[in-house]
Amino acid sequence: RGRATSISRQNWWVLLGDMGTGKTSLVLRFVKGQFFEYQESTIGAAFFTQVLSLNEATVKFDIWDTAGQERYHSLTPMYYRGAAAAVVVYDISSVDSFIRAKKWVQELQRQGNPNMVMVLVANKADLQDKRKVENEEGEQYAKENELFFIETSAKTAQNVNELFYEIAMRLAKAC
Ligand code: GDP
Ligand code: MG
Repeated sequence: RGRATSISRQNWWVLLGDMGTGKTSLVLRFVKGQFFEYQESTIGAAFFTQVLSLNEATVKFDIWDTAGQERYHSLTPMYYRGAAAAVVVYDISSVDSFIRAKKWVQELQRQGNPNMVMVLVANKADLQDKRKVENEEGEQYAKENELFFIETSAKTAQNVNELFYEIAMRLAKAC
């Protein structure tokens, strides 16, 4: 039986990034093990509560999946201020989404909690033939900004569990 050591009382993570990059799909793949080719756009924002068992502790956290607002880029800092982790997602087949992801990173660096675990996620890694953003570009940017970087596919499930476990492990270490 694992110890119910939750990492912090308000352990919530936020997903940010352009509309259509696969934020909701990543969460649904992780939480439910499902993928929808025609994922309906989420209206409003959704919370998913999740519990992960690591070697030493059980990590309970909420994922705040932002939606709708990203179209107008009107997300106020209340959506991410105080988040333990921020997951900034882009789509490897969209240069625009990569540009927008970098803007999100800058905004988080300016306004976010300084201890926040920040992750840059290059999603839709299954779309190799449509790739517009090289792996090295994402990796390089992440390195310069001290972010954890990972390429994922919500469709094939590539690296999806790894993404969320990595965050949980980084937070567990930080405690
Ligand atoms: P969100 O607006 O960021 O929440 O993006 P969604 O999760 O709604 O996904 C937008 C579209 O991209 C949907 O049609 C998904 O099926 C598709 N999608 C999401 N993740 C992937 C992926 O990893 N690979 C591929 N090929 N399509 C994806
Ligand atoms: Mg969504």
